[in-house]
Amino acid sequence: MFNQISEKQMHYVRWILTIGWAVLIGSLFYDPLTTQLTDSQNVQSPFHIQPECIHFQGACIHPSPYDMGARIFWGMVIPSAIVLLLLFGHEVWRRICPLSFIAQLPRALGLQHKRLTIKSTGEFVYEPVKVSKDSWLGRNYLYLQFSLLFLGLNIRLLCVNSDCLALGLYLVSTILLAMAVNYWYGGKSWCHYVCPMAPVQMIYTGPRGLLGSKAHQAKNNLTQSMCRIVDEKDKEKSACVGCKSTCLDIDIEKSYWEELHQPDKKLLYYGYFGLVIGFYLYFFLYSGSLDFFATGAWNETSQMETLFNPGFYIANHIIPIPKLVAVPLTLATSTGLSYVIGLQIEKTYKRITKSSNKTQVQRRIFSALTQVQHRILTTFSFLSFNALFFLGIYPSLSWLSYPVKQAFTWLVVIASAAWFYRTLKRSTEQYTRESRVNSLRRSLNQLAIDFPKVLEGRSLEELEADEVYILGTILPDLLQDKELLEEALEQKDADFSSQRETLENISQAIELTRCDLLRKPEITIPEPPAPAPTQGELYSVLNLELVQQEYLYLDALLAELLGPIGPPLLRHTALQASNIQDLVQRLNPHIPLPQLAEFQRRTSPLLQQSKVQPEGKKYLGLAAKV
Ligand code: SF4
Repeated sequence: MFNQISEKQMHYVRWILTIGWAVLIGSLFYDPLTTQLTDSQNVQSPFHIQPECIHFQGACIHPSPYDMGARIFWGMVIPSAIVLLLLFGHEVWRRICPLSFIAQLPRALGLQHKRLTIKSTGEFVYEPVKVSKDSWLGRNYLYLQFSLLFLGLNIRLLCVNSDCLALGLYLVSTILLAMAVNYWYGGKSWCHYVCPMAPVQMIYTGPRGLLGSKAHQAKNNLTQSMCRIVDEKDKEKSACVGCKSTCLDIDIEKSYWEELHQPDKKLLYYGYFGLVIGFYLYFFLYSGSLDFFATGAWNETSQMETLFNPGFYIANHIIPIPKLVAVPLTLATSTGLSYVIGLQIEKTYKRITKSSNKTQVQRRIFSALTQVQHRILTTFSFLSFNALFFLGIYPSLSWLSYPVKQAFTWLVVIASAAWFYRTLKRSTEQYTRESRVNSLRRSLNQLAIDFPKVLEGRSLEELEADEVYILGTILPDLLQDKELLEEALEQKDADFSSQRETLENISQAIELTRCDLLRKPEITIPEPPAPAPTQGELYSVLNLELVQQEYLYLDALLAELLGPIGPPLLRHTALQASNIQDLVQRLNPHIPLPQLAEFQRRTSPLLQQSKVQPEGKKYLGLAAKV
C-alpha cells in the first residue's frame, strides 16, 4: 500500500528526515542543549539520570549528565527503523532512508562514474557501471554486509555507543563511503552490496512486511521501493538501471525465494540472532548489573578511555580481559553459537522431513525441504526481533509514561506475532501461482463468459489468487470439449472417491516421465494400482459442487508432478488426454527418444489396467456452467 504514495510526497519526507538527521549529526559535534535534560536534578525531564547509585563492576557509580545525541540515535532512531521494517517492510524504509538519499547526491549533481559500452544496435554509449553478478562483490555481498554489521556493532560497543564526537565522525565517514560507492557503481549499489543495515532489512521483512505490498500482483510496474523519477509531465516512471538482478526494491519476495537455500542467507539469519543476544548480554557481562543498560548508565562519556579496562565482571569477579578483546570475543561467540545451533536445527528438521516423505517424489521432497528452510528462517527472524525488542528497546523506553510504554509494547508483540503467523504459512508455490494471476485474469477476461453469472455473483477481480489460477489454467482447454461435457452431464450419479485412484495412476505415469527425463534411476516403479473405475462411473461424475474439489485435487497432483506452474505444455497436454494410453502418446513427443522405450515398458502395467476417461474431463463441469 505504501508503494502507492507518490514520489513527490516521499521526496518531502526524505528531505525532512535528512534535515533531521543532519541536525542530529551536527549535535554530536556541538550540543549546548540536551545535557541538562539528563541532569539528575532535572526531574521534569523524562531523560534525567536516576539519583540512586548504579552498580558497575562491584562499585556504586553515579553517572554524570551527558549529551543526548548518541542516545537519540541508538535508542530512538535505530529502534524506530526496526519496528518500521517489521510493520511496513523494507519498501517504506528504503524510500525514506536518509543515508540512501544522501548517497544519491553525487548522481543528482551529475557525478556518476560511467563506462563506454556497445549496445546491441552497435551504438556506443556511456553507462553507469554495475556490480557484475560473477564478481567477488556480486557473489559475496551478503558476507560483506554481515561482516560490516558485526564490525559496526563492535565499534559501537567499544567507541561510538556514547562518545558523541566519535559517533559523529563514524556517521560522517559512513555517509562519505556510501556516496563513493554510489558514485562508482550505478543504481542503489550502496544499499544492495555494502550497507550493513540491508541484511537487517531482509531479516525483518522476510518475504513481506506486515503491511507491505505484493509486488508480483501489482497493477502497475512501479512496485515496492523501486527507483523512480517524476518526469516533466508530472508522471512517475521507472529510473531502474538494473544494478541488481533480483532486486528486493522491485520484488522482495522473489529474491527471498530465489536465495532461500544460499549459505550466506543461513549465516545471516542464524548468526544475526546470536549477534543480537551477544550485543545486549555484553552490557551485563561488562557491568555485572542488569540496570546498567536500562538506566542509560551505558552512556559513559569517555568511552575511548575504557578500551583497555577490564571487559568482564562475572559472578562478582573482575576478569582481566581488556574490553577491546572482550567485546569481539562475546559477539563472535554468541554469533558462532547461534549459527551452529541454527544449522543443527535445520539439519535435524530436514532429516525428519526427508524420512517422513520417503515415499514422495523428488520434487515433492524438495518442496517440503524448501518449506522447512522457510519456517526456520522465519522463526529466527521472529526470535531476533523479539530478542532485540525485549533486551534492547523495551528497557530503554523508561522515558515514556507507563500506559504509552505498555500500549507500544503490545502493539509490537501483536504485530510481530501476526507477521510470524502469516509468513510461516507462505510458500514458494503460493507465490508462483499468485504471480500468474494478473495475466490469467487478462486471458480470462477475453473469454466470452459472463463470470458473475457462473461464479455466483463474484467477478474475476473478486476471486482469490488460487481460484483465478485454477480457472485460468484449465478453463480455456475445457471450453474446447463441450460435446464431451454435455454427454458427461447426462449422467449424474457420481462417486468421486473411486476416481482418486485414477488420478494417482495418471500422476504416477507422468512422474515416471519426469523421472526418465531427469535420469533419476533411484526412483522406483510404483505398484500397479487397483482396477480403475469404469468409463461409465467416470462419466457420471459431474456433480457441479464436487467438480471444484476434484479440480483442486487434480491441480494439486499436477502441480506436484510438473512444478507449481509446470511446463505449461506438458500440463495442458496431460489434461487433454482421453485415457492413459492417450496420455502416454501425448507425452511421448516430450520424451527424448532414448528414454521412450524404457518409459513405455515401465508404464505398460498402468496402461493395461486403465480404460478410464481422464480426470481432466471432470472439469468440464466448469465449462458446463458457462
Ligand atoms: S530498482 Fe533498479 S536501479 Fe533501483 S535498486 Fe533495484 S535494480 Fe537497482
